[in-house]
Amino acid sequence: MADQEDIAADLTSTLASHSTVTVEKGRFISAQCSCGWRGPARRARSKARTDAAEHEESP
Ligand SMILES: [Zn+2]
Repeated sequence: MADQEDIAADLTSTLASHSTVTVEKGRFISAQCSCGWRGPARRARSKARTDAAEHEESP
């Protein structure tokens, strides 16, 4: 029981420190993170999401 709580706490802290969203700006979309990181402007949302995923894996 205690082990499961520890794992959940680790996941929560990881998500809280790097929570990414994609933000549309005109015709472009860029990824942004709660840590202040911002990805390059992309024309395709899928590219912005890839940027965000890569940042979350290796900030
Ligand atoms: Zn981040």
